[in-house]
Amino acid sequence: MQLVDNRAIIKITLYMLKEIKKTILDVLFPICCLHCGNGDAWACNECFRKIKILSAQVCPYCEKVNVPGGGICPRCKEKFLGKYVPAPLDRLVVAAKYKEAGISRLIHFFKYRLISDLHEILGKLIVKSLIENNLPLPDFIIPVPLHKRRLRWRGFNQAELLANYISANLAPGLEIPVATDIISRKKYTVPQMKIRNYSERKKNLQNVFVIDKDKKNIIANKKILLVDDVATTGSTLFECGRALKATGAGKVYACVIARQEWKNVL
Ligand SMILES: [Zn+2]
Ligand SMILES: [Zn+2]
Repeated sequence: MQLVDNRAIIKITLYMLKEIKKTILDVLFPICCLHCGNGDAWACNECFRKIKILSAQVCPYCEKVNVPGGGICPRCKEKFLGKYVPAPLDRLVVAAKYKEAGISRLIHFFKYRLISDLHEILGKLIVKSLIENNLPLPDFIIPVPLHKRRLRWRGFNQAELLANYISANLAPGLEIPVATDIISRKKYTVPQMKIRNYSERKKNLQNVFVIDKDKKNIIANKKILLVDDVATTGSTLFECGRALKATGAGKVYACVIARQEWKNVL
């Protein structure tokens, strides 16, 4: 009986602490549109409507050729022919321009100011772009995993929140399963944003993502949608895709809110 009482007290205390934290945050950072400062949402209707979904997608590898739906251009396709491991991503769909109407600010607040509620606005943009780009319905969705140390620091995996939103909203009436136990991040790595050199960035992620051996049968020949917040060189998504393809995945698609231009990172 005593044990039950203690549990109830802990539960109530945690609930109260959560409410206090929420009230303090509401007072210190009242919710308003991050772009124009009006309204009582992180993006007011007017500003949200103004965000343009990217109308043209480019090949994820060379980033030079326009390819419908973000597929691989014929030239890059040729490079993968006859390779032991096929192209890591079959498509990459980018929802909006990084510099477009406050997108970078929304992403920054989502990722670094830890406003997890922003996943709905940003998830909505991704869903819109996936539909406009006629992405075939995936069998399941995989968010790019965080290392558990970073997850503890941030308190949430931003890619997982986006994946959950996409899962519930991509196909009305159908919840596409989100799998978080297939790929894990074994090595703690320096954040990609802190590395300026292209080959160093690639090296930083080598063999970082590991596929659970027991899940091999689940991914065999399946269509998988990888989700991340932003891509720059694409190394993170390519590494995840490579691991999935090497383990027998059929098709690997990927989607992000925006692709940051490499020259803006340098
Ligand atoms: Zn606004
Ligand atoms: Zn290409």
